[in-house]
Amino acid sequence: MKDSWVMKVFLITGPRQSVVEDLPDPTPKPLEAVVLIERVGICGTDVEFFNGEMAYLHSGEATYPLSIGHEWCGRVIEVGSTEFESWLGKPVTGDTMLGCGDCSLCRKDLQYLCNSRFEIGIRNGQPGALAEKLVVPIKALHELPESMDATTGALVEPGGNAWRAVQSCELQPGERLLIFGTGSIGMLAAQIAKSLGLDVFLVGNAKADNAFAKGLGFENVFEFAELPEIEFAAVIDATFSPAIPAVALELIQPGGKIIYIGLSSSPSLIDTRKLVLKNITAIGILSASPGLKPVIEIFASGKVDPTPIVGATVSLSEVANVLSGMRPANFSKGPKIHVDPRIY
Ligand SMILES: [Zn+2]
Ligand SMILES: [Zn+2]
Repeated sequence: MKDSWVMKVFLITGPRQSVVEDLPDPTPKPLEAVVLIERVGICGTDVEFFNGEMAYLHSGEATYPLSIGHEWCGRVIEVGSTEFESWLGKPVTGDTMLGCGDCSLCRKDLQYLCNSRFEIGIRNGQPGALAEKLVVPIKALHELPESMDATTGALVEPGGNAWRAVQSCELQPGERLLIFGTGSIGMLAAQIAKSLGLDVFLVGNAKADNAFAKGLGFENVFEFAELPEIEFAAVIDATFSPAIPAVALELIQPGGKIIYIGLSSSPSLIDTRKLVLKNITAIGILSASPGLKPVIEIFASGKVDPTPIVGATVSLSEVANVLSGMRPANFSKGPKIHVDPRIY
């Protein structure tokens, strides 16, 4: 039997500093489970934590050393109480957002907006999934179908964010949706929107990324300067650019919806006169929480195969390189990098 008392954990110890450490195995409290992690996605938030730019590092909502990783899947190997034994052995993913359970928002099932929430691998010291094992409250678990592969399972969290962005557009099949950004959220949103029959246009700013998007079957992929002069019923901003929120207001048709899900590192300004005079609805999306269940169903149905967006799967010892922007040798151009913590 493998060492059962320690596990490997990836920790960010300071800006651009990290270590893979052996830490004691987690012990579940009565309402918790321990998950053996099979796959973890690395996202822009993780890169910001590594760079030291993430806003929570400045507000005190996160401090080094940091255990990151919030897009994950694995199997339940231990539960804190016999009443949850039916979870043992089940393939799962989980909600990142852990509310206090007690405030007015939590009581309305808006735990992902709870002011005192913990976020797995992000906020208030809640350990993340870039480790061999992760402790998760039972109530945050979502069961995955046995037939779902680990790559897809670890894409449920970003998929849930993308699903919410698409769903918030409230479009009918055939209506035209413009998505800015060909990163993971942009591509997942495009795949989900296409599966719903929407007429998807994508804007990316690198030729290689746009070629990748076209290779996934999207015909209308443009660099911004080439975008045809047409209006869109809805626009999703899934970029890091502070300029796009204002650009979206130019391209949206009157009465349309703009979904803001990307975050820039500096404030992005919009002219609210345009918002008023075109009667636009602007919507911000924080967290996958309400999108987890529907996206598990969409992935399980086969209507969307998100796996091509994973460019490579690496080991825990390669995470620091990925966070500093290096790409593995076998990289396929897909925007998402996955980690298998079982290999070191
Ligand atoms: Zn993320
Ligand atoms: Zn709360």
